[in-house]
Amino acid sequence: MSINKEQALKQYFGYDSFRPQQAEIIDTVMAGNDCLVLMPTGGGKSVCFQIPAIMREGLTVVISPLIALMKDQVEALRVNGVNAAFLNSSLSGAEQDQVMWQAKIGELKLLYIAPERLFSGNTFEFLREWNVSLFAIDESHCISSWGHDFRPEYRQLSALKKYFPEVPVIALTATADRVTRRDILKQIGIEEAQTFIASFDRPNLSLNVLPGRGRIQQIQTFLKKHNGQAGIIYCLSRKGTETVAASLQKAGFEAEFYHAGLPSEKRSKVQEQFLRDDIQVIVATVAFGMGIDKSNVRWVIHYNLPSNVESFYQEIGRAGRDGSPSDTVLFYSYMDIITRQEMIANSDQSEEQKELLNAKLNRMKQYAEADICRRRILLSYFNEAVEQDCGNCDVCRNPRSRFDATVIAQKALSGIARTKEKVAMGMLIDILRGSKNKNILQYGYDQLPTFGVGRDMRSEEWAEYISQLLNSGVMDIAYDEAHSFKLNPASNQVLYGKRKVELVRFISLSERKAKEEAQLPKEKPKQEIIRDALFERLRTLRKQISDRMGVPPYVVFTDATLSEMAQKRPVSEAQMKAVSGIGTERFRNYGETFIKEIVDFARENTKPGTRVAKGMTYIETWDLFKAGYSLKVIAEKRDLNPVTIISHLVKLKEDGHDINLKALIDPAVYKIIVTAAQEMSIRRDEPLKPLFELLNEKYDYGQIKLALAVWEEERGN
Ligand code: ADP
Ligand code: ZN
Repeated sequence: MSINKEQALKQYFGYDSFRPQQAEIIDTVMAGNDCLVLMPTGGGKSVCFQIPAIMREGLTVVISPLIALMKDQVEALRVNGVNAAFLNSSLSGAEQDQVMWQAKIGELKLLYIAPERLFSGNTFEFLREWNVSLFAIDESHCISSWGHDFRPEYRQLSALKKYFPEVPVIALTATADRVTRRDILKQIGIEEAQTFIASFDRPNLSLNVLPGRGRIQQIQTFLKKHNGQAGIIYCLSRKGTETVAASLQKAGFEAEFYHAGLPSEKRSKVQEQFLRDDIQVIVATVAFGMGIDKSNVRWVIHYNLPSNVESFYQEIGRAGRDGSPSDTVLFYSYMDIITRQEMIANSDQSEEQKELLNAKLNRMKQYAEADICRRRILLSYFNEAVEQDCGNCDVCRNPRSRFDATVIAQKALSGIARTKEKVAMGMLIDILRGSKNKNILQYGYDQLPTFGVGRDMRSEEWAEYISQLLNSGVMDIAYDEAHSFKLNPASNQVLYGKRKVELVRFISLSERKAKEEAQLPKEKPKQEIIRDALFERLRTLRKQISDRMGVPPYVVFTDATLSEMAQKRPVSEAQMKAVSGIGTERFRNYGETFIKEIVDFARENTKPGTRVAKGMTYIETWDLFKAGYSLKVIAEKRDLNPVTIISHLVKLKEDGHDINLKALIDPAVYKIIVTAAQEMSIRRDEPLKPLFELLNEKYDYGQIKLALAVWEEERGN
């Protein structure tokens, strides 16, 4: 029996359609051609080689450097009914022999292996005895020293094409600029391979930049809103991760920190707990996340500014891999730019290299300071043209307005001039706002003509505008002189009225929030309440199952699948399989358990008067019917018309429930109704009144509906 790729996608992965490029890539591989696939993290690279693996005769060898992921990837395939295994050092000798044996006798469709394992011992010799039909090289940028994660052991992969010229190779990566891309092809020896570049857009990620003041406070508010959802807070330094985690813990949040300085057992433990949904909040350096394939990371916060757009995009890309909506937040202040610049200046890189790093940092700054759609900026960085604003970034939701701020700039700059360029942010604001504190009085700053000229604006407003002035280059800062502000030629032009300054109008956080909240519906619609409550129930069930299996929860079902389930509330096999992500084997593994949970939930929530009652009516009928009650009793119990109950049952039957409708109707009555219907050639979905009248109003609408449903069914079969 052979199936086509669409059938394979449905049967094994439970998806109805391919994402852009997936089908073309699969066709290319199926035709026996090499290819290079560039897709963002979460873009759906795996099915590009998994489906050919399933459809092709023989074994697909998947080379990946991420040993920690292999077990989960293999488990996810097995749950989907695909024979897969992995070979790495976490297996005992006997287990490895077992896998090698399975590969030899052709029991496996996919074998995951790390390059160092592939070229150790005599594994490579064995390959020739196995019927290898495809090589998939994941994270293929690791082969290039131009990439950001060069691994020397990847270089050995050039042997593949040499010894297996007939076997196609599919190389995959999420990040590769032109140079790296060319190098990958060259190193693997597949220069002629077709390259597929998918869009790097990740529309499910919301993009937000928040001012860096009061970050901890802001994070706490954020966490309360994202209660129960997993996410990562990235900090610049190890120390930073510890202090941020400590202050969150102090505020009552369960947060753990993670950095490369921790003992390795501790690191694996934290990582494992995060994968298993046992810890929701991780405060980490960028060391965290490589090799984490958790699909239900719901948010990523950057506590500090990343050094370049590539890193930033990769880090936020760890959120929402399942395609469900996820939030990203970048905290930004001028201090972060300075810290980064300092780091570059003090590094032992060449001048040329430093220039490059500064240029990259500058692109990051442009993103952070954008007053146009942030997604446009990101995607243009990756050379992708964008037609429209995204509507899912803070700028789109809260359009910025620019105004002539020359006077504001002059006030600030003259404050700096009058204090002989000796003051930093706090003091300058105090002078402008006319605060008479000890320091001000000590230096006699209250005597300056500038004292109090900016009373009309709040401190945070000044802080924002001064940052913008710094960012736009009309003043400087000397971080080696206690961050005191300095004038430059541009400052003088502004001061003497020779240059105008435009700034982006300040919106306070509370205004911003109020505005965003005003856009949300006041009260959650009933449907949403049901959905959220059920989602939690299903999530708990998923956790129980995954704990029992010893795998992360998303291996059982992704959040996206769970969320669709909570919304559609499938209670039959057909309905359940219509949910995206539930293939044949996955249904067999978990389908009934989840249906039972949905039905139980319905039963508990259908008490009259509860908000959830509506929408559950079919399920309640089904429940009583299954319990063996007659139509009449069900109607009484539910205080509904029997005709309504019949239409429920007909609908339930259509949805794939096992109901013998024919048994519910007297055969003689059935015959009479059907004969009349035939005469009138009437169908169930047409008005039934004429038929009712033709039958002298002897049979009620319930019986008529039932008879027609049975009739249709019999004709259908
Ligand atoms: P990548 O390896 O590119 O980071 P994955 O292969 O892990 O991404 O896919 C990300 C998610 O998208 C997974 O949950 C996967 O099952 C899902 N996915 C892949 N292809 C499709 C598709 N055609 N329809 C729906 N979901 C898909
Ligand atoms: Zn936008």
